[in-house]
Amino acid sequence: MATTVPSLSLNNGTTIPQLGFGVFQVPPAQTADTVTKALEVGYRHIDTAQMYGNEQETGVALSASGIPRDELFVTSKLNNGFHGPDDARRTFDETLAKLGLDHIDLFLIHWPLPTLYDGDYAGTWRTLLEFVADGRARAVGVSNFQPAHLDRIVAETGVVPAVNQIEAHPFFLNDEARAATHRHGALVEAWSPIAQGAVLDDETIAEIAAAHDKTPSQVTLRWHVQRGDIVFPKTMSPERMAENFAIFDFELTDDEVAKISGLDRGEDGRTGPNPDTFDYVPA
Ligand code: NDP
Repeated sequence: MATTVPSLSLNNGTTIPQLGFGVFQVPPAQTADTVTKALEVGYRHIDTAQMYGNEQETGVALSASGIPRDELFVTSKLNNGFHGPDDARRTFDETLAKLGLDHIDLFLIHWPLPTLYDGDYAGTWRTLLEFVADGRARAVGVSNFQPAHLDRIVAETGVVPAVNQIEAHPFFLNDEARAATHRHGALVEAWSPIAQGAVLDDETIAEIAAAHDKTPSQVTLRWHVQRGDIVFPKTMSPERMAENFAIFDFELTDDEVAKISGLDRGEDGRTGPNPDTFDYVPA
């Protein structure tokens, strides 16, 4: 029986498949082939970014697939060098052209960069709202926004992002950013959902996986889904694509969910940069 991926409702009335496929660190030369394989497995939600350098190749796979546009959900993100309004508008045009789309499902501010651009990420947010107004983005959101960043853009514009895409996995629950996202009425997208593989050797997760005859990756992704978050694991391997997709035929108990949440290491578990200080701008 074909797997049905649940859809979640975003706060603007559109829907998003809860499980997708991420293409961070998929080399451009292998992206078309990798995304094609993911679509064959059944993924319909693809998460890319201007910074990943593989939008064009993602677009090649999407158009070659022949899958109707309304069955696909495509996300991209504004690169860190392009927060100025003119740059954001120009590169959003380029994103659509590279992806071969006349509209995108979700477009995010990749990082808030509070120490750059005079800290004006609210101005950047205002520019993204133009893309919804002109119909070229079905939804817009943010990524790596801390509670104070969310509070500020909502206070200044009155518009709540559809999602906040943040680092979250069993070793780093990122509870404060997650709670703030929910308090504003947005959904959490959990990036690096298996901590780039780091959680897969954990004994607690391995024990729970064995109890369900599932793999540690499947149990971890299932944990995210049962917490109501959106995930898009990355893998280059077709076998792992299928493995990560097969998470809707079993259920963790509340106790198992709590045990996995208990692996949280707080800030020590963070694998990526801290959004309060991150100021990387690609050359
Ligand atoms: P993930 O947590 O998805 O882990 C990916 C790594 O785990 C790869 O090395 C992959 O190796 C391995 N892997 C995947 N599945 C399995 C499996 N079943 N068993 C064993 N190993 C496995 O990390 P990502 O950082 O890629 O995060 C996922 C997505 O989140 C990204 O692709 C991107 O879309 C998004 N993201 C967003 C960020 C942001 O700032 N907004 C930052 C980071 C990620 P292999 O390929 O060899 O299988």
